[in-house]
Amino acid sequence: MSVLTPTAPAPPLEPHDASESPASPFVMPPVPLRLSDMTRDELTQCMLAWGEKPYRAQQVWSWMYAKLAGTVEEMTDLSKPFRARLAEVIAPLRPTAISHRVSADGTEKWLLDCGDGVATETVFIPDEERGTVCVSSQAGCSLSCPFCRTGTLPLRRNLTTAEIVEQVLFVRATMAARGVRVTNVVLMGMGEPLYNLEAVTRAVRIIMDNTGLAIGCRKLTLSTSGVVNKMEEAGRNLNVNLAISLHSVRDPVRDQLVPINRKFNLAALRRAALAWPMRGRDRITWEYVLLAGVNDTLQDARELVSWLKGIPSKVNLLAFNPWPGAPYTPTPREQILRFQEVVANAGLVTIIRDSRGADVGAACGQLAGTAGEPELFHAPMQGRLDSLEKLPRI
Ligand code: SF4
Repeated sequence: MSVLTPTAPAPPLEPHDASESPASPFVMPPVPLRLSDMTRDELTQCMLAWGEKPYRAQQVWSWMYAKLAGTVEEMTDLSKPFRARLAEVIAPLRPTAISHRVSADGTEKWLLDCGDGVATETVFIPDEERGTVCVSSQAGCSLSCPFCRTGTLPLRRNLTTAEIVEQVLFVRATMAARGVRVTNVVLMGMGEPLYNLEAVTRAVRIIMDNTGLAIGCRKLTLSTSGVVNKMEEAGRNLNVNLAISLHSVRDPVRDQLVPINRKFNLAALRRAALAWPMRGRDRITWEYVLLAGVNDTLQDARELVSWLKGIPSKVNLLAFNPWPGAPYTPTPREQILRFQEVVANAGLVTIIRDSRGADVGAACGQLAGTAGEPELFHAPMQGRLDSLEKLPRI
């Protein structure tokens, strides 16, 4: 499909960052105006710059995020002239889905067009008590974790604030039309969120705004593969849950599974986790994908327990979701249960996360398009691993 053919250079990643600081004057963003790129405060400043009253911003905000209007025409309590003026300068309020797949277990995956030859994937995972949107922060990924299919893709570019926010908006509106609730957001889709921290921070603020999408801090989880030098800033600016891809507590093994470990090793990761600001009874979630013969012995489980000592933690054990060409096989279920027993017996909350959406490539570690989708999704990963080898260890 032509929309995925590499074309235009990436747009500036953060067109509005200057307005984030109270000392900086508001700079009117370029037309077409992407409303979901703006925080509520910036939208207010935008309305003031247009000579409108501040309440206009709250009206528009509420239509976009609370009443889920898909077009300006639906914003019926705005005057006709104002609607016409808005419609002339703004970009569409929602992204276009290039493809949509539904798993036998109810999980859904969309490939969303980012409009410049780039696309990204978003997943909705329903269960009895909640509906979770798994959001991407980058188109592709630069980190090459070899168990993760996204890691076989090139990094096309960081997503903008609007492109992150609109994934949630898109799924919430789609689900609302069916009477299904979206309650949780996890930044665990394509990409490493801390490599796009400015846009992610702004997007999280918009998603959490309690007059709009109103996803609470306990319902929003930021994930990282362990970008230690960005964790302090993320912890300071984002009052959300943290999940860290761990997968081994032995440096030589983690160097292979999570190549950024060659730059920020386990000791550095542990220090950063201990410094993460915790609220009350919060815990860091450690993601641990079990790979047969790699990291799944009972000795691995005991070492995990001992490594986590002193860190308020919860462990998510993930069964590996195979994909074509994957260099690993899943750990048998009985061994996962034995591994869980060792960790749980040490007093750690340990959950086996069942695979969701694997039949449509929507499960953890599988986001990389689907057969028949363009070559964007099939770049070789050798080369990027080589360059990671050269990173100095910190
Ligand atoms: S696990 Fe995360 S950081 Fe690693 S390659 Fe996949 S998307 Fe990138």
